[in-house]
Amino acid sequence: MDPVEHAYAHELFERLFRELSAIGLDAAGATTRLAWTPEAAAAARWFDQTARALGLEPERDACGNQWAWLGERGPGAVVSGSHLDSVREGGRYDGALGVVAGFVAVHLAARRRELGGRDGGPLAAVTLGVVAFADEEGGRFDSPTFGSRALCGTLDVAAALERRDRDGVSLRDALSAFGVDPDGIGPEPERLAQIGALVELHIEQDTLLEREGAALALGTRIMPHGRWRLDLHGEAAHAGTTPIDARRDPMLALAEAVSAAHAAALRHGALATVGKLEVSPNATNAVAERVSAWLDVRAAQESTVAGTVDDVLAAIRARADHDGVRVEMRRESFTPAVEFSPALRARVAAVLTERGLRALPMATGAGHDAGALAACVPTAMLFVRSDGGAGHSPREHARSEDCLTGIGALTDVLLELANQESGALADV
Ligand SMILES: [Zn+2]
Repeated sequence: MDPVEHAYAHELFERLFRELSAIGLDAAGATTRLAWTPEAAAAARWFDQTARALGLEPERDACGNQWAWLGERGPGAVVSGSHLDSVREGGRYDGALGVVAGFVAVHLAARRRELGGRDGGPLAAVTLGVVAFADEEGGRFDSPTFGSRALCGTLDVAAALERRDRDGVSLRDALSAFGVDPDGIGPEPERLAQIGALVELHIEQDTLLEREGAALALGTRIMPHGRWRLDLHGEAAHAGTTPIDARRDPMLALAEAVSAAHAAALRHGALATVGKLEVSPNATNAVAERVSAWLDVRAAQESTVAGTVDDVLAAIRARADHDGVRVEMRRESFTPAVEFSPALRARVAAVLTERGLRALPMATGAGHDAGALAACVPTAMLFVRSDGGAGHSPREHARSEDCLTGIGALTDVLLELANQESGALADV
């Protein structure tokens, strides 16, 4: 970006990011924008208003994903975006940065066309788009990458619709209340067939780039990852009258699960997390009747994930047998390793190299919409350096200058891809 464009982009980025950050922000600085909630509705309105203000045409697909188009939607469209939902008490950058970056980059691309120059012209033939995928985090219904997988046809929609949130509301009812027809959710192959490339920009949520002294990374693959639900059934009892050796306390097997997950992950070189619990009756003075816990495991290889989970389950069973606790464990979701399109990655890398931008190749353990979409369309990911490496936390931060470096790179990439798609269409 030249200095004039940089100043313009900086102001637009700061303004859009500030507007979006205000939605779902609590007094402690944490962001909670769960899917299909009033906060999600406010973010959706922000998306539509921003699109219109920048001269883009907004629309929503049957899966609840939002799109904004510069020009008529047609074959070879080049799209950028991410998601607007967050985890509970998460950060401001995860997903939001990618949507804001998409808007700024598409706007800069259009502005360059208006101002003329070598990047003009071909955009007339190829549409640029911005997308915000619905419910990427799965923070309310444990249904991660809901919108992108539903769109692609890789989600068991019927099963997902029956999931319930903490208040017992089903996803089906939440969708209806939000104005999305649950029975209309399903793949849209025609829409997907028109997308020539999807490039998602995302905050890194790791410290690799800080350590390497680079502002950008280009995604290579997403590691396989899964979620397992663990139900431990004991017997409720009085904390003051039931002898310690006469209890069937599921908390002991839970404790074993937490420490076994940590030990197994260290042993296997995996990541394992027990980050969510439900306890019944959840009383200070009662031995629990039941504990439900969720185990999240990720590793470079699927066999490593499986080995880690097997070890955890064996440890839980040993403890539970000892205590007379019944164990149920079932897989709630599993995403195999995803390789981003090597051809698209090479095209993106060539643009970055030509502009003198350094982007480290990076595999990630985090799930992303671009990973889910990789099953249907060519996708690539650009990661912007984290300041401190935090993710899913209010401490999540990226420096403005790094965000702008990412936006500049994204603009160049979108324009070059649009030029190439135009050329390819012209050749047909
Ligand atoms: Zn994200």
